[in-house]
Amino acid sequence: AAKRAGRDRVSVYRPELRTARETFTRISAGLRHAVERGELAVHYQPVVELPSARIVAVEALLRWTPPGGSVPPLDFIPVAEETGMIVPIGAWVLERACRDAKAWHDRHGTSLTVNVSVRQLAEPGFAEQVLRTLATTGLPAGALVLEITESVFVGVADDAAPLLAALDGLRAHGIRVAIDDFGTGYSSLSYLTQLPVDILKIDRSFVPTDTAGSGSGDDHAFTRAVLQLGTSRQLPAIAEGIETQDQARLLHDLGCRLAQGYHFARPGPVADVDAAFLRLNPALTA
Ligand code: C2E
Ligand code: MG
Ligand code: MG
Ligand code: MG
Repeated sequence: AAKRAGRDRVSVYRPELRTARETFTRISAGLRHAVERGELAVHYQPVVELPSARIVAVEALLRWTPPGGSVPPLDFIPVAEETGMIVPIGAWVLERACRDAKAWHDRHGTSLTVNVSVRQLAEPGFAEQVLRTLATTGLPAGALVLEITESVFVGVADDAAPLLAALDGLRAHGIRVAIDDFGTGYSSLSYLTQLPVDILKIDRSFVPTDTAGSGSGDDHAFTRAVLQLGTSRQLPAIAEGIETQDQARLLHDLGCRLAQGYHFARPGPVADVDAAFLRLNPALTA
């Protein structure tokens, strides 16, 4: 019976393991040629000011469309990180995004925000690469924000120290640092005051989806606390994932001045962002 159970276990679990490994192998093999085959693109999503909804920045979001359909970033970014391919791919994204954002910066004064993986930050010479890209594209350092996920900041202090030093080096040049997906990690609010950070991006899981009848109580205690901390430390916060007018109004009522989400604009290619500027920043584009 034991033998039979063992064999059953193998037959039950093995296909799943094989599927996961095959998926990983397929994605990493495909990604290896994605740049040269022109399958990668950078889309952009506006970050707006509340309540005017004027665009103040654009976030670069990588897109991969191999033959047969697109692959979501949440499926391929982890593979790119694990294999190290995120280093050359991230360099490509940064250069592409700085070029595109330069035109918007010149016309509208907007910033560019780019997601950066720990793997990139840990790469020796990362800071020099960023500065070189700014020099070749002409985007000023003050117009660039690097988004780092909160997990970087809650790692073991010894591991995190060189990464925090790299961020401080970039900040000395005027580049700003944002904590992405804030609230999903473990940093205490008081710990925040010690971090080399300029902007907090409040993860969309902290943006209420049902805003009806939530006038009382502590429904928004975390968001409120982050926004207050932001005010006292001059750390601006961006609320992610705003999908409705009600959410936008609620966040504004809570004191949030910057937001991002489908309600204002979905991520899209350069032409879509140009259209969003016409719609949301009409005075400057007239
Ligand atoms: P993120 O940096 O937190 O980016 C925000 C994600 O939320 C994007 O997903 C965006 O399309 C989505 N989003 C924006 N507004 C809304 C909304 O109103 N509702 C909902 N439900 N979603 C919204 P996306 O483009 O699929 O990217 C997923 C993640 O992949 C990003 O999360 C980021 O961590 C990573 N990523 C994307 N591009 C890059 C890149 O160039 N480099 C690195 N290292 N990571 C990237
Ligand atoms: Mg981001
Ligand atoms: Mg991110
Ligand atoms: Mg995020």
